[in-house]
Amino acid sequence: TFRALVSNRHEDGEVSSTIETLSDERLPEGDVTVDVEWADLNYKDGLCLTGAGGLVRNYPHVSGIDFAGTVRKSADARYAVGDKVVLTGWRVGENHWGGYAERARVNADWLVPLPEGMTTRDAMIVGTAGLTAMLAIDRLEAAGLVPDAGEVLVTGAAGGVGTIALSLLAKLGYHAVALSGRPEHAESFTALGASAVLPRDEFLAQPDKPLESARWAAAIDSVGGKILGKLLKQVKYGGAVASIGNAGGIDLDTNVLPFILRGVTLAGIDSVMQPYGARVAAWSRIGETFDFGGYSALVEEVRLEDLPEAAKRILAGRIKGRVLVRVRET
Ligand code: NAP
Repeated sequence: TFRALVSNRHEDGEVSSTIETLSDERLPEGDVTVDVEWADLNYKDGLCLTGAGGLVRNYPHVSGIDFAGTVRKSADARYAVGDKVVLTGWRVGENHWGGYAERARVNADWLVPLPEGMTTRDAMIVGTAGLTAMLAIDRLEAAGLVPDAGEVLVTGAAGGVGTIALSLLAKLGYHAVALSGRPEHAESFTALGASAVLPRDEFLAQPDKPLESARWAAAIDSVGGKILGKLLKQVKYGGAVASIGNAGGIDLDTNVLPFILRGVTLAGIDSVMQPYGARVAAWSRIGETFDFGGYSALVEEVRLEDLPEAAKRILAGRIKGRVLVRVRET
């Protein structure tokens, strides 16, 4: 048997979660069974755990879009008992049981081997948030970004994607600027290597024009909505913006001038369906680049039973850095 945080939807539509002890027969179909050691909490987990956004269709459900652990049983030649593995994305935790349980059964195609030099705990400090930040930097560089091109704006800076993006950019020699609704965390941003902090209110208070003063060589945006609309108008000639998320809304109100007069690129980033080769490459670059020691103050460790409360906090934009989930009691 194994412990799991099981979510159920009630008649009034409310979703609640409790710890249950389950037998292996309850696990979904899959060719690899994993003893999960660590999981994490992303914005999307907040949606799944509270039932918001309609991402989870079938109940009872086990959420958790990321996990890392040890192979317990494998019917796939690529994985043997005892191998350390990581899973992110593929809609696990949404339409397949995920990482908020001591055991998971998944399709071998969805796994990657634990990156060299990382523990399963390290991998979940990174998780989907860090993988996506790395994919965004890779994409901006493919569009021509180099460290001396100028400032790179990171929006939603206090969140998971934002903090890891700041840290990775600084390590790679970029001048990262943190845009945050919580400028009180300025010290954390500069400790991660940010060269400046821009309060969200101040940014939004600048008068709206079809094209604004060009400041950013590039941007990594996990907020969307008004913030993305405005920052596009401030990107320098030939710059690029990676659109990652919608923590501030799905709308995008902008105009074509940044694209046709400044040659700006808007690049969409998806981590969920990334093919295997790209995932392995991104994890390996994270392993070479990410400063786990420097990031440790931004890691909050919780247990499975703490997740329903943490889910509400992440949806309210009140989490700072990353929430790591200790799945096992001992
Ligand atoms: P998170 O830790 O909650 O970070 C989101 C940050 O956005 C918050 O910390 C906050 O930063 C800012 N924010 C929140 N609500 C806001 C609002 N109403 N208006 C403006 N800013 C707001 O979440 P995360 O896990 O980093 O994910 C961030 C976003 O990226 C989510 O939308 C998530 O779904 C998306 N995402 C997408 C992919 C992909 O594959 N495309 C992968 C990972 C995440 P400040 O307080 O500093 O302003």
